[in-house]
Amino acid sequence: MSEEKHLPYNESELYKVRHSAAHIMAQAVSELFELDEAKIAIGPPIENGFYYDFELPRQLVPEDFKAIEKRMRQIIAAKQPFEKKVVTSEEAKAQFANQPYKIELIEGLEAGGVDEYGEPLEGETEISFYQHGEFVDLCRGPHVEHTGQVNQASFKIMSIAGAYWRGDEKKQQLQRVYGTAWQKPQDLKDHLWRLEEAKKRDHRKIGKELGLFYFSEDIGPGIPLFTPKGEMLRHLMEEYVRDVQTRYGYEHVWTGHIVKEDLYKKSGHLENYKDSMFPPMVDENVSYRLKPMNCPSHMILFKEMGKHSYREFPMRFSEFATLYRYEKSGELTGLTRVRSLTQDDCHIFCTPEQVESEFTLALNLVKEVLDRYEFTDYRVDLSLKGDTGKFVDDPEKWEQAEDALRSALIKNKVEYTEAYGEAAFYGPKADFIAKDVLGREWQLSTIQVDFIQPSKLDLVYIGEDNSEHTPVVIHRAVTGSTERFLGVIIEHYAGKFPLWLAPVQIVMVPIADRHNEYAGKVAAQLREAGLRVKVDGSRDRMNAKIRNHTKMKVPFILVVGDKEMEAEMVAPRARDIENLEPMSVEKFIELVSE
Ligand SMILES: [Zn+2]
Ligand SMILES: [Zn+2]
Repeated sequence: MSEEKHLPYNESELYKVRHSAAHIMAQAVSELFELDEAKIAIGPPIENGFYYDFELPRQLVPEDFKAIEKRMRQIIAAKQPFEKKVVTSEEAKAQFANQPYKIELIEGLEAGGVDEYGEPLEGETEISFYQHGEFVDLCRGPHVEHTGQVNQASFKIMSIAGAYWRGDEKKQQLQRVYGTAWQKPQDLKDHLWRLEEAKKRDHRKIGKELGLFYFSEDIGPGIPLFTPKGEMLRHLMEEYVRDVQTRYGYEHVWTGHIVKEDLYKKSGHLENYKDSMFPPMVDENVSYRLKPMNCPSHMILFKEMGKHSYREFPMRFSEFATLYRYEKSGELTGLTRVRSLTQDDCHIFCTPEQVESEFTLALNLVKEVLDRYEFTDYRVDLSLKGDTGKFVDDPEKWEQAEDALRSALIKNKVEYTEAYGEAAFYGPKADFIAKDVLGREWQLSTIQVDFIQPSKLDLVYIGEDNSEHTPVVIHRAVTGSTERFLGVIIEHYAGKFPLWLAPVQIVMVPIADRHNEYAGKVAAQLREAGLRVKVDGSRDRMNAKIRNHTKMKVPFILVVGDKEMEAEMVAPRARDIENLEPMSVEKFIELVSE
């Protein structure tokens, strides 16, 4: 691994390349117009590339991209040095006299300053220019030494979109031109391939092709409807996690869908989480809410189960609970952002001393599950208390919990980064960010330590000292929500689910009607062995049937005709392995069970 990899993005060479490409593009775009007709706003590097915002005399179209790229290549070929110059605000204003957005930025810098993303700057601010050739930009850098260090064959103008100045919809609408830039041509090629592949793997597209789920105007946005195949997937996913949890000593509970609003007042959710909750339902002057999370319900259940002693700890309550969260309809996307989601949620009640071992257990459980789904590349973000005031005042408990999490991660050799000030208001947390086959990162599992809610809801246990204490609660989700995780794995597998997860594992294809009976008999035998089988008794020709089921990415297709019927054999076609010789049903069951 190179040293470069360990630098934060905004200090890396790639960041400088992208930032420099943004300047070069701003020059190329400006030159499409008369002097000062193009008004330039801001142009930062972003993930995978950069953008620049412009106010222009006309709308840019994709046909302009070629000309822009061509001009950029000329500027790159000229190897113009990037030169920094610190200036006074008067000098800056004189330079950008005809550039109102820059003038506004300069005035902002005078008043304390914002960075190129429009975020306030901390500390002292100097005003500086970066110039290459004739083009001057108001900029803090950093940049490469000269334009030639942006590789001619490693960038591309990608798209154009509308963007408001400073992200404020009351302000001027600008044209945002997106570009991508890399250090090597192969990196650009790989990036473009991943984009293409991501389009092909879009779970909304595959979900429709495989007939897994639908959204309906009649039901409303963000509430997916699952077909029998889709529900089978959900069932298999949940059954798997349930089995793992049971093996790890977790127990399952069930707590309904509606909760009195008063409980959320007590727990603090109404105050902190109101915008994500559906409006109340009122019955005889009592307000109820659709459950947006399980924590308060599990804690009340804990309380109702009677007095607890430390000897019962840890108690681990898991639930596959469908929760309802209010998301703006414009922000809903397929299964990854929905209004009804089923969390594989768990709350662990324990003593402060048990936090490390419980965290380790949860860590191993999460690792096992991610491994099963073939997510081999993941990291952990450990969010810790910062110095800001939003954190509860119990520094000793905090420190103890943070040490416990850190020590568990180190002992288990899990790669992690610490983020100060990012913890939840009730305690430190560890988020698992997994990379899918396209290298995209998804935040999946989370483990959070909580000192606050248990005391707000008056939970107690009798400690070793015979007096009452407040338990620590660890919140833990493995796959997050069934819906979102399904969306992620559809793309991860491109719809080719592994055998254990395939909603239909085997399709029987009888060649003619006279083979239907035999096909049915074999199917019954396979079902008996616990396999998920369908018989295609449609009137389609054999080849059409095979084509259909291949498109459906079914792991095994069993063609049966006269030969197979007489010999009491099957002729399997496998999705993932080389074609197989005809074999007896028993042999086939053995093969599949492997
Ligand atoms: Zn800049
Ligand atoms: Zn919780």
